Amino acid sequence: MKIIVGGGISGLWLAAELKSRDIPCCVIEKNALGQGQTLASQGMIHGGTKYALDGRLSKAANEIRAMPSRWKKALKGEGSVDLRSVQLAREDQLLWSVESVAAKLMGFFASKNMRSRMERIDPRNEAAFNHPEFKGHLYRLSEPVLRLDTLIEAFTELLDGQLFHAKVTGFLTRNGSVIGIKTSAGQMLGDVIMTAGEGTGSLLSTLDGRCPQMQLRPLAMAVCKLARPIPQVFGHQLGVGSTPKLSVSTHEFEGAQYLYLGGQLAEEGVHLDDHNLRHRAVCALSEALRWLEPAIETTRIFRINRAEPSTDEGNRPDTAFVTKCNNLIVTWPTKLALAPALADQVLPMLGITSDSPSHPHWPIAPKGIYPWA
Ligand SMILES: Cc1cc2nc3c(=O)[nH]c(=O)nc-3n(C[C@H](O)[C@H](O)[C@H](O)COP(=O)(O)OP(=O)(O)OC[C@H]3O[C@@H](n4cnc5c(N)ncnc54)[C@H](O)[C@@H]3O)c2cc1C
Repeated sequence: MKIIVGGGISGLWLAAELKSRDIPCCVIEKNALGQGQTLASQGMIHGGTKYALDGRLSKAANEIRAMPSRWKKALKGEGSVDLRSVQLAREDQLLWSVESVAAKLMGFFASKNMRSRMERIDPRNEAAFNHPEFKGHLYRLSEPVLRLDTLIEAFTELLDGQLFHAKVTGFLTRNGSVIGIKTSAGQMLGDVIMTAGEGTGSLLSTLDGRCPQMQLRPLAMAVCKLARPIPQVFGHQLGVGSTPKLSVSTHEFEGAQYLYLGGQLAEEGVHLDDHNLRHRAVCALSEALRWLEPAIETTRIFRINRAEPSTDEGNRPDTAFVTKCNNLIVTWPTKLALAPALADQVLPMLGITSDSPSHPHWPIAPKGIYPWA
């Protein structure tokens, strides 16, 4: 039995890949499926362009390049993971600059590499930018944005009977090798794969020997409730730095519209208290979409960590991370988009099993909800 610890995107995608190969597996989730970083994310399946805003393609940009087409295949039901029931928030993402920075972004707009990845579009064809006051550049990236609630729903159906609700508290070991898990619901023997995001760090610390170290990079996201709706926006406002100034996704709950704001605002916001960050978020949004005059009713701050393998400089790792320690497979995808790449690396590391599925009689893991809503 392959035991996958953690029911976020990396555990769920891996379990679906194993299921398609008839390899017995189960996922153990301590809270609710997806309700770690996965449902907190902006659901954007990046192909790396947003890591190349200075016009240069970094290693990270090349590694992630294949991901949008990989996801699109799954969304069409082609390939080993069938995500046909997942709804898209939007088929593409927009990149825009406001007039004041357009001139400083010449490296980005001049780069041949960048031009091949995106299409300049006429603002008159985009409801949110069709306004005489919008005078910047507007580009379209063919990279989808997922409705994450439908993503979790799709995996829940696909993996029916394999998703269990229990907290993994430690490992069963023999001669220094991990041979199973201890949980709040009981013990289980099998090959263990860690996809527990932030939870992986503390579990690794219970093991002897050299295991990879985890780093946490915090984000402070702003959630703006609008008094009146604007045309939906999914994309990134370009600044002069190498990451987007603002990343915006639009959500509707109970008749109200919310803008979920990430990007540089959320990276820098971790150094501000809620009061100051709320003020910064209102200013940033009012500048980013000035012509729409967004009427912000309330702004909430949602703080969350990104869990990743440690890097020397504490920066975002370039690609999905997979390694073995004490017979345990340890993973962090580093991006939602990289979940397929993570599974690709894990699959060849798994021994062939001839065991028949013997699932525990444990409670079924519930589906998560958007943690910031
Ligand atoms: C605000 C934000 C926005 C983001 N936006 C994007 C984006 O637009 N595009 C993109 O590609 N990436 C994005 N990311 C990154 C992406 O969300 C993560 O890389 C990805 O979701 C990580 O998935 P995961 O399955 O490894 O971890 P998680 O989703 O955190 O799942 C880990 C699961 O393990 C469970 N768990 C932990 N400990 C235990 C235990 N002891 N026993 C059992 N279960 C346990 C947790 O409850 C959790 O459900 C964003 C991240 C954040 C924080």
